[in-house]
Amino acid sequence: MDEASNGGDLICAVDLGGTNLRAANIDRDGCIHERIKHPTPKSEHAKDIVSAIASAVRESESECQKRGGRIHAVSVVVPGSVQVETGIVVNAPNINCLQGFRLAAALESVLDRPVLLENDANAAALGEMWRGAARGCQTIICLTLGTGVGGGIILEGKLWRGIDGTAGEIGHTSVEPFNGVKCKCGNTGCLEVYASATAIIRMTREALKQHPESAMGSVPIEEFTSEKIYQAGLKGDEVALSVFRSMGVRLGVAMANLVNIFNPEMIVIGGGVSAAWDLFARQAREEVVKRAFPVPAKRCQIVRAECGDDAGLIGAAKLAFVR
Ligand SMILES: [Zn+2]
Repeated sequence: MDEASNGGDLICAVDLGGTNLRAANIDRDGCIHERIKHPTPKSEHAKDIVSAIASAVRESESECQKRGGRIHAVSVVVPGSVQVETGIVVNAPNINCLQGFRLAAALESVLDRPVLLENDANAAALGEMWRGAARGCQTIICLTLGTGVGGGIILEGKLWRGIDGTAGEIGHTSVEPFNGVKCKCGNTGCLEVYASATAIIRMTREALKQHPESAMGSVPIEEFTSEKIYQAGLKGDEVALSVFRSMGVRLGVAMANLVNIFNPEMIVIGGGVSAAWDLFARQAREEVVKRAFPVPAKRCQIVRAECGDDAGLIGAAKLAFVR
């Protein structure tokens, strides 16, 4: 590469979320230049998703061309499993029309340049390792606590995708084998039904039935968010505090298993729910120490993510630069 590294030589990274479609032009140093955000089309047809992504890429491109930038490739992260080699979306529970769809090929034919696909949580793990909390590490696990719980596993610098591209579904490992809450994956007792934003809201509603005296009881049910429950916890609301404590214990059970299996240097925790770190991290850490072997438990740092919403975009760009 003889081009200047900063700002001219770009990847257009696209994060196709269930709610928003975000795109950003990212350089070889992992710096974000132009960025745009539009609602993800609510459509039954994959072609509408393709045209929304294509128009976001064109918009990003015309922005960077104004200052002489050039987009080499497009790297798209999706909320689901993907087969990286074929560019097929294996499943995407929140964007059903993409299931089994050859998204990379469809985008390549309209954009006329290479297009990569990756799972969102995998990309977030790479982003945190490149530009975030796990800089300098080689073996890490990244958990994203959002509407659901995503996971990404990087072993000795390499993303572990599994034989079918479905690896890293840590949100759907069992933490409650008996009488567990039903998960949308079909299993019961998955980590996701105890540690996602959705789970925090459900657990709070359940706890309020036993504790109507809580100040949370006056909040209309439709206004519940994990953020509001966190705020109530900060003010000392016992229902909110107990929900986050119990979430921390389940998260710690899952992390103790990860620590024993992978002996990682670091577990990075991101996603919206990680904002409530102070209310669950201690319980989670204690559970790891209680359950995992002492040597890997002592070794493993458990830290908050640093890239925020941009982790997936940054990781997607990294994938395209190394490809
Ligand atoms: Zn599940």
